[in-house]
Amino acid sequence: MYPLANFSAEDTPIVIGIDLGGTNVRAAALDPAGNILASFQMLTRAHRGPTEGLARITDLIQRTLAACSQTQTLGIGIGSTSPIDRSRGTINNPYTLPTWSNVPIVAPLAETFACPVVLENDADMAALGEYWRGAGQGVANLYAVTVGTGVGTAAILDGQILRGRDGSHPEGGHQVIDPSGPPCYCGSYGCWEQLIAGPNLAIYAQQRLAEFPDSELWKQCGYDPAKLDARMIFAAARHSDPLAEAVVKRTANYLALGIVNIAHFFCPEVILFTGGVMTDHDLLLPQVAATLAERSLLVPADQIRLLPAALGGEAPLIGAAYAILQELNLVESLPR
Ligand SMILES: [Zn+2]
Repeated sequence: MYPLANFSAEDTPIVIGIDLGGTNVRAAALDPAGNILASFQMLTRAHRGPTEGLARITDLIQRTLAACSQTQTLGIGIGSTSPIDRSRGTINNPYTLPTWSNVPIVAPLAETFACPVVLENDADMAALGEYWRGAGQGVANLYAVTVGTGVGTAAILDGQILRGRDGSHPEGGHQVIDPSGPPCYCGSYGCWEQLIAGPNLAIYAQQRLAEFPDSELWKQCGYDPAKLDARMIFAAARHSDPLAEAVVKRTANYLALGIVNIAHFFCPEVILFTGGVMTDHDLLLPQVAATLAERSLLVPADQIRLLPAALGGEAPLIGAAYAILQELNLVESLPR
């Protein structure tokens, strides 16, 4: 049974999942089985300051509750772009949320909505969502890799997020793959993110475009290399464009080297892939699997399944709902 103290007999108890990103913030109301009942999205507009941002999130939650004819929720889970301080319930991310330095978010929302609130990294929430309702269901040792405008990673062990000191989020996207590679905003060089994230594929292709005057990519970008993006590169690779194929091969190789490291450190049962770049997983994962088989002889790499994630953009919302249900000790009674 769920605690129904705040709900009348005919009400369905719901939880709220929030996905707070640099561009958009989304809220969803979910039932305890993980079904999304209503969801809304608005621009984050972080640069206008955290006070307005928090007001927007509050408005979003109220709209979502109203769409379900509710005024109460069991609790709120927030998956946010990092860095965050989970234990203090604050967001400290002036990188993708300009002006948001040490901003309390858990306490004000808990007060406004009179319910428990949990804050986690968004990649962790997405992996938790896949564990509950997606491609990682029933997997005891799950690793997730998001390759989009950046590279995010998350590990779920027996349904729990793997955390570091003080609840910190390990950043597998910043493992060094090529020490002579490009500088990274994390302070290092040649990080995984710098080599395989979408914008970095485009930069590499731009740098080599002059060598390939007949490349389809010229037409794809309207003869303006600054407009090249990863989607164009994968599309051209499907037409056997030599430059695009070279970029995809290089990306698959760097992706594979990071996965070999993950296999050695975690030996997960499943590695899930999501994010814009991994939309074209069929062009990348065969090479990853081959490299993994060649270079991971001391671990049972042949038993690691490499799978595309199943929930798409809804994964962080569903994971955020699961996180607050965990906080409420309701997970044991959830349908599986
Ligand atoms: Zn880095």
